[in-house]
Amino acid sequence: MHQEIEEVLVTEEEIIEKCAEIGKQLTEEYDGKFPLAIGVLKGAMPFMSDVLRRVDTHLEMDFMAVSSYGGGTRSSGEVKIIKDLDAKVEGRHVLIIEDIIDSGLTLSYLVDLFKYRKAASVKIVTLIDKPEGRTVDIKADVVGFELPNKFLVGYGLDYDEKYRNLPYIGVLKPEIYSEQES
Ligand code: 5GP
Ligand code: MG
Ligand code: MG
Repeated sequence: MHQEIEEVLVTEEEIIEKCAEIGKQLTEEYDGKFPLAIGVLKGAMPFMSDVLRRVDTHLEMDFMAVSSYGGGTRSSGEVKIIKDLDAKVEGRHVLIIEDIIDSGLTLSYLVDLFKYRKAASVKIVTLIDKPEGRTVDIKADVVGFELPNKFLVGYGLDYDEKYRNLPYIGVLKPEIYSEQES
């Protein structure tokens, strides 16, 4: 599996260190507020697990699964809910946990949804931000790493459902895409 990676952009050590830093920040911000931490499946799973174990105050965890229509390496704009929350959002301090913000379409949809459901506050924590990809005006409140506009895999991020279990974030060798497409 590792020989299919061209370049590692964020190492496992850097991710672990960053999760501790963000966990500390969230502990200070949310202490006593019992936030509702919402992980966006599937990509946010490793990050959510690592970062929330570094938050030292009570919180609730819930999950949503959404998909933007169409597969491949680009997001199409329309968002569909595959799995909705179990928890009620009204009056809660919502903390969206995401793997990556690219166009911003997925997150802008979710932020609007949670505001419509009367959250007391909505904040976004993302492991990766690719600001060059943005097509809607949205900013994450907490960003782990700002990265260039490349298609990334690893640590939750997939290509064709593979590579989510890599412990680092990297870029695939171009021949991996061309093998699939031919
Ligand atoms: P957005 O709606 O901000 O364009 O991106 C939403 C989703 O597109 C992300 O949650 C992720 O699933 C996918 N995505 C965006 N950029 C990348 C990337 O570089 N690599 C992978 N594997 N998925 C990405
Ligand atoms: Mg995601
Ligand atoms: Mg994907």
